[in-house]
Amino acid sequence: MKPLFVKPDQLYYQSVCGRCLEEKNEHRNGRGWWPGESLEDITTRGKIDADIVLDWVVCPYGHRRLILREGSEPARNFR
Ligand SMILES: [Zn+2]
Repeated sequence: MKPLFVKPDQLYYQSVCGRCLEEKNEHRNGRGWWPGESLEDITTRGKIDADIVLDWVVCPYGHRRLILREGSEPARNFR
């Protein structure tokens, strides 16, 4: 899953889980799209403090996605 990049001064983020998206689209692990569901149902919101440059967001299914702050060393190394 691609990292989520946040802006240098960004504090709040939302992440659509790419793994959940795949599982639901491909009906893996007994999953699928149920009536009324949307991307909103696989979106995780969180806060990243201004001095944090690397973090993880974990969706309700336990999928981890890297968060990188733009302009920071870890973000530069990743690209
Ligand atoms: Zn997920």
